[in-house]
Amino acid sequence: MNCIFCKIINNEIPSYKVYEDDLLLVFLDINPKSNGHMLVVPKKHYVDILDIDTAILNHIHKVTIEMYKLLKDKLNIDGLTLVQNNGLGQDIKHYHIHLIPVYKDSKLLSIEEIYNKLKQSN
Ligand code: AMP
Ligand code: ZN
Repeated sequence: MNCIFCKIINNEIPSYKVYEDDLLLVFLDINPKSNGHMLVVPKKHYVDILDIDTAILNHIHKVTIEMYKLLKDKLNIDGLTLVQNNGLGQDIKHYHIHLIPVYKDSKLLSIEEIYNKLKQSN
């Protein structure tokens, strides 16, 4: 299957991985809407919300909450917007949730800089 997110999950193409477990992977969006914009992606290829096994949604939500805490801790975000596109609204046909941080004010930093801040152990 020619799916870019499956290739990221299989380490065939690189990504800025923030979190990984047996069921899902979280990595930084390559074209961020704000600093720390990341994607929560199940490892199994589900197309969209009509296709996904609903049993995994609770886990996706739990990890999303953990990522919100991480973003608050490392990037001092002021809010978080969740976006999940389907059908024509969706570019990559592999289910994913966007975590888009909201800031009172900020300038866009490089993805490497953001990755390093998220990985810092302080
Ligand atoms: P959607 O319209 O919800 O399918 O959005 C797909 C998202 O995937 C966009 O925000 C892209 O910037 C992002 N994206 C595409 N290719 C990559 C990649 N190789 N690594 C990280 N994010 C990507
Ligand atoms: Zn896929």
